[in-house]
Amino acid sequence: DRSVSRGLGDVYKRQKLKSTLSEKRYKHSLGVCDEAVKLAEKYGADTEKAYTAGILHDCAKGYDTDEQIKLCQKYGVVLDDITLACKPVIHAPLGAKIAKAEYGVNDKDVLDAIMCHTVAKENMSLLDKIIYIADMIEPMRDFVGVEELRKAAYENIDMAFILGLKQSIVFNAQKNKIIHPNTLSAWNYMLMNGK
Ligand code: FE
Ligand code: FE
Repeated sequence: DRSVSRGLGDVYKRQKLKSTLSEKRYKHSLGVCDEAVKLAEKYGADTEKAYTAGILHDCAKGYDTDEQIKLCQKYGVVLDDITLACKPVIHAPLGAKIAKAEYGVNDKDVLDAIMCHTVAKENMSLLDKIIYIADMIEPMRDFVGVEELRKAAYENIDMAFILGLKQSIVFNAQKNKIIHPNTLSAWNYMLMNGK
């Protein structure tokens, strides 16, 4: 188990994360963490940062929506109309604040990766893309197209990122769900910059 000997080795913090999340969400977090470290090794990103961002990316997800909104006020997360209209995305910017305030993470690269892991944004770093993709392909994920995405993830991270964005955009559009403008910014940026 990679997670025992690496970052967030502080037992108290691991227990806190575990007690905050459901069993399933905690396992998902460990899966994302493991996948993120593997992708970081493959692409030469910082494995410690990938580890920390991976394990903590959903650290705000254990709170219900009302609690999340209250915590946003506490930590100064600005909720615009679009974000309020797609509440499942709130846990990402809130998670970055909680990772800093409650888990002692001060690394901006890690906090940025947590912040954009759900809807993405334009001009993402390699670490941002790794966390975004790891979140979609960890072993418990099961959706139409996940195998194609898993394969792409270990061939070309930018192509995998484009495919992941496409799957997300199509999925939301087919369900008549709002597509966050940052997701479209990420998509357009990748296409316009030849990736
Ligand atoms: Fe998430
Ligand atoms: Fe997640």
